[in-house]
Amino acid sequence: MADEEKFDAVVVGAGPAGSAAALTMAKAGLQVALLERGARPGAKNVMGGILYNHYLEEIVGEDWKQAPLERPIIEERRWLMTPDAYIALDYKNLRNRTHPHSYSVLRARFDPWFAEQAEKAGAMVVPETVVDRLIVRNGRVVGVGTGRGDDLYAEVTIICEGIGLGTGLLENTKIDGRPLRRKLRPDEVAMAVKEIMQLDSRIIEERFNCDPGEGCTIECFGDSTMGMSGFMFIYTNKDTLSVGGGALLSEFNKTLRTPNDLMEHFKQHPAIKPLLRGAETVEYLAHLIPEGGYRGIPKVAGPGYLVCGDAAMLSNPVHREGSNLAMDSGRLAGETVIHCKEMGDFSEHRLGEYRGKLDASWIMADMKKYDKAVPLLEHNPQLLSKYPAVADNALDEFFRVDGTSKWDKQRKIFKMLRKEGLFRMGWDTFKSVWAMK
Ligand SMILES: Cc1cc2nc3c(=O)[nH]c(=O)nc-3n(C[C@H](O)[C@H](O)[C@H](O)COP(=O)(O)OP(=O)(O)OC[C@H]3O[C@@H](n4cnc5c(N)ncnc54)[C@H](O)[C@@H]3O)c2cc1C
Repeated sequence: MADEEKFDAVVVGAGPAGSAAALTMAKAGLQVALLERGARPGAKNVMGGILYNHYLEEIVGEDWKQAPLERPIIEERRWLMTPDAYIALDYKNLRNRTHPHSYSVLRARFDPWFAEQAEKAGAMVVPETVVDRLIVRNGRVVGVGTGRGDDLYAEVTIICEGIGLGTGLLENTKIDGRPLRRKLRPDEVAMAVKEIMQLDSRIIEERFNCDPGEGCTIECFGDSTMGMSGFMFIYTNKDTLSVGGGALLSEFNKTLRTPNDLMEHFKQHPAIKPLLRGAETVEYLAHLIPEGGYRGIPKVAGPGYLVCGDAAMLSNPVHREGSNLAMDSGRLAGETVIHCKEMGDFSEHRLGEYRGKLDASWIMADMKKYDKAVPLLEHNPQLLSKYPAVADNALDEFFRVDGTSKWDKQRKIFKMLRKEGLFRMGWDTFKSVWAMK
């Protein structure tokens, strides 16, 4: 790469955000370089992961059907756990067979395919290339320096580096003496772990009550995270299970627990252990998830740069959405650059159209709605510890056939709920489910 080479856009990071941005711009004929530090895209990437095909389809059209996805999700299960019971909300929607909206996915397979689509559209995809600095001249980002010793120049640099806590380009680049993103607090970031566990596909289908080729999700709250705000999951892939979960860094710090403690605790739960029997761990991964809400979003459009996906703190942990916010923000950033190119104007003002597009989209609507969801859970630990136990006791009484009349049971349950603050419990739960302020 020669020094004088100048692209319309350089994209840092070939995750969902970066590949979406690069593909969008390349399709419009722009000169785009997509730089990825991994040996190949996806090599270092972690996700639960459930991918939402709507957003993929918006970007690649009908070709989304060729993507290496694992199983369409037909059933979603939510379990509220206590140490020896769980209360389930299971939703099996058979219409998902004809119109699936989400699939389990393994990023090591998906990311290379997605980046390849950008390459086919004309983007220059360069793996094994760490961007080690943003080049700032006269208060404007004008390109990137790479670990290979090359400098690459562009009208716009799109930063899709993922969360990049501490080591990232955003936190370590200053314009006018100020970093492009402030340091994140431990209560704005979740530490997540994941194991990929190999299991015969037929056993997966029998054990998880799935038809051949179909999949389900199980997400577990309460005792599963030892009462910390977060959740654990099992997702069915073709011949593996994705097992993992996470909680806020601040809560790991407070409780001195490690992600490994969390994982072992979950895997040993009497309701989880039989689901994992005989499954062999083939990969262990850890990653951070941005959970700072709307207030945590940094400046996403500045002089010479745009920021997308996790780097921009765009994620909705309550609905386990992140990859879709990444893809859609990447697409919107790409469309902004296309417009700048058409206008021959890459000024900060014109690049600011990206923020306007985000503000007008479902992304910011959701970010605002869930702005306080994580602090709500963090500051109301009863939601994930005391209330599940109360609900467990009430249901135990309800279902137990033991010579007590149903009238007496009803009275007992009502007394129990009143003692524990029935109305407070209902209100807290309502607020958390609807993420009300
Ligand atoms: C355990 C876990 C489970 C999750 N489950 C789900 C789920 O089920 N559904 C969902 O939608 N989301 C889920 N997410 C969130 C989702 O993974 C992220 O929101 C999404 O990956 C963000 O995409 P991105 O492109 O912004 O960042 P990333 O996916 O992090 O990609 C960033 C890319 O940039 C590269 N990079 C970083 N720095 C540099 C550099 N300096 N130079 C060159 N390349 C660089 C990285 O190698 C990487 O390829 C989960 C996350 C975790 C950790």
